Amino acid sequence: MKSILTNYHTHSHFCDGQEAPEKYVQKAIALGFHSLGFSGHAPVLFANQFSIPDSKLIEYCSEIERLKTKYASQIHLYLALEADYIPNKSYDFDYFRTQHKLDYIIGSIHLVTHPHSNQLWFIDGGEQAAWDKGLADVFGGDIRQAVAAFYQQTNRMIEAQTPEIIGHLDKIKMHNKNRLFTQQEDWYQNLVLETLSFIKEKNLVLEINTRGLYKGRSDELFPSIPIIKIADKMGIPLMLNTDAHHPNELTGFYFETKELLKMAGIKELWHFSLAGWFSSPLD
Ligand SMILES: [Zn+2]
Ligand SMILES: [Zn+2]
Repeated sequence: MKSILTNYHTHSHFCDGQEAPEKYVQKAIALGFHSLGFSGHAPVLFANQFSIPDSKLIEYCSEIERLKTKYASQIHLYLALEADYIPNKSYDFDYFRTQHKLDYIIGSIHLVTHPHSNQLWFIDGGEQAAWDKGLADVFGGDIRQAVAAFYQQTNRMIEAQTPEIIGHLDKIKMHNKNRLFTQQEDWYQNLVLETLSFIKEKNLVLEINTRGLYKGRSDELFPSIPIIKIADKMGIPLMLNTDAHHPNELTGFYFETKELLKMAGIKELWHFSLAGWFSSPLD
């Protein structure tokens, strides 16, 4: 099989993305995409600015179903959610699975829970100063404790919620930029290796997420190339997503990343379909 274009991680105006889902579909068809998945931020159990509101979830699902039918002869479309796992503050992923006919769930951590105080540190967003303030306020500036809490929360999500795909595995590093720790430190590598072993054990797919690069927020992919190489050696399936929040971001750093992955020795990428996961060569 030849290399194909797919993107399973996109956000429309139903959550914190821009433009209607149909605009993404039309753009993806024009670009020659084989498959496009919608993964709006799933509702969580508190008021926020990023997720699909509970009151809009049915409309979101029915709109994607309408587009699936309308464009069935031109592109494979999928209905999904990017779900947060936040102990006591997010829905069980099975709640979404049973209420809505989702094709898959991307499990991601955007808010790290302090294990004792239960305060939340928001690690996403464009501002390094906000990341620093959250680390100071919630974890008293203890970067090791905060990073360990991030990966342990990921492990609990894998164990308790079992999403099909793990989103931006090491987003915690985004605003660190080698200031408070380096990714070569043993304690950090051990945390990553432990989480990869859980991903492998549950047969989940690991996404390679380009958003940090085309938004200029990170100088590396999520996850970093050394982690991608280890995951590949462990036999963890890899998929390439851009986490688009606008139709123009559907190919954000997509082709450049394929080149980076080829240079790193990665041979294939995996793609979702209703018949099951399949791979295509990186060529
Ligand atoms: Zn995300
Ligand atoms: Zn996302």
